[in-house]
Amino acid sequence: MDAAATNRHIVIVGDSIAGCTAVRELRALGHDGRITMIAGDPDGAYARPPLSKRVLAEGVESSDRWDLSDLSVTTIAARAVGLDPDARVVTIDRGESVSFDVLIVATGADARRLAAPGQSGENVVRTLADAASVRERIAAAQSAIVVGGGFLGMEVASACVAHGVPTTVVDVDPPLQRLLGPYLSEAILARATERSVAFRRAGSPVELVGDPVEGVRIDGDVLTADLVVTCAGEVPGTDWLAGTGLADRSGIRIDTRCATSLPGIYAAGDVTCFRDGDGAPGRSPFWSNAIAQGKVAAASALGVAPRCEPTDDYFWTEVAGLAIKVVGPLPLAGAPTVLEGSVEDGSALLEWRHDDGRKTVVAYGIRKAVGLLRRMATSI
Ligand SMILES: Cc1cc2nc3c(=O)[nH]c(=O)nc-3n(C[C@H](O)[C@H](O)[C@H](O)COP(=O)(O)OP(=O)(O)OC[C@H]3O[C@@H](n4cnc5c(N)ncnc54)[C@H](O)[C@@H]3O)c2cc1C
Repeated sequence: MDAAATNRHIVIVGDSIAGCTAVRELRALGHDGRITMIAGDPDGAYARPPLSKRVLAEGVESSDRWDLSDLSVTTIAARAVGLDPDARVVTIDRGESVSFDVLIVATGADARRLAAPGQSGENVVRTLADAASVRERIAAAQSAIVVGGGFLGMEVASACVAHGVPTTVVDVDPPLQRLLGPYLSEAILARATERSVAFRRAGSPVELVGDPVEGVRIDGDVLTADLVVTCAGEVPGTDWLAGTGLADRSGIRIDTRCATSLPGIYAAGDVTCFRDGDGAPGRSPFWSNAIAQGKVAAASALGVAPRCEPTDDYFWTEVAGLAIKVVGPLPLAGAPTVLEGSVEDGSALLEWRHDDGRKTVVAYGIRKAVGLLRRMATSI
């Protein structure tokens, strides 16, 4: 790193896993200049994966947090509301301007909402405050509907039934099928059904009904429940970048160095989408990717070689009483080779071989270290 780089004032917007990882990596790579973090969540920095797991299912009060107090970072508790890339200034919601030499955008995503304009009472699970509110509602509910059968939807449904609340998941596709394929989708649905999760497949996207929301319209029928939770994906947190040309509907376009289309501005985590043709997947809004990109963005901000790739194809989920760890490319198609155990018993080690020779390894309810799964996925 040259001397000029160490004097640069680096501003990071967003203090979740991508932003905090970038800070740690900047210091680890030897940056001893100023770092300022603009942090928009009033509850501070915390991990999201436990929100739909321990926080909902076990009722723990908070989520895992991390501490940057040893890294000499100035934190501004405010939301960024504008960026002037030419003047190199971020505007925050109390009207002040924060100037930067280099900017790392790590503003993640918000929950995608389905409510019509003005329709009240939609529940989502993206923030600690959302999870606390949904947890309270689960405790008072006799029935629940979850809109969306992806990872989040199935985790929320699992938490509802763990509290004794019969739950219907509605989606246009079978649960988890888009990424995990039909084989695991069927296995997980069978387990979830045994645990009082019903599944209703919609012919077309559902609509929320009631104001406040009290149900869904699905193919002409109305289903109601005490609690309706929308788990319909996420929307990149780019509103504050309007007019800069940095983002489109899929997020901030980055290359494999996490560089955006503007010089000296990098992005990491759920807010990003790889540019076409860079050989990396488009959007991959998962925890391990946010960490990998936080590290790569930090290295690029300093003009040094990154210590890892900007993608990491490990993720995990906890559904229907099972911890599922996946390493390797997705989506999955066809049936796997069962290397150990049995899917019916809820404890199996599975391997898919893709046409291009790559492998995906899944620990399905079986305890296996992630390092082992990584080695298996990359072995010939
Ligand atoms: C409930 C839940 C469960 C999940 N479980 C899993 C899992 O099991 N496995 C997995 O791999 N992934 C999981 N994920 C996904 C994972 O949590 C995300 O990929 C990860 O949090 C992305 O990190 P990030 O730092 O990019 O963004 P985020 O975590 O979204 O954080 C962005 C931060 O930026 C702040 N911010 C936004 N806009 C502004 C602004 N204008 N000004 C200032 N600050 C701003 C926000 O307040 C937030 O703190 C889960 C996500 C959720 C919501």
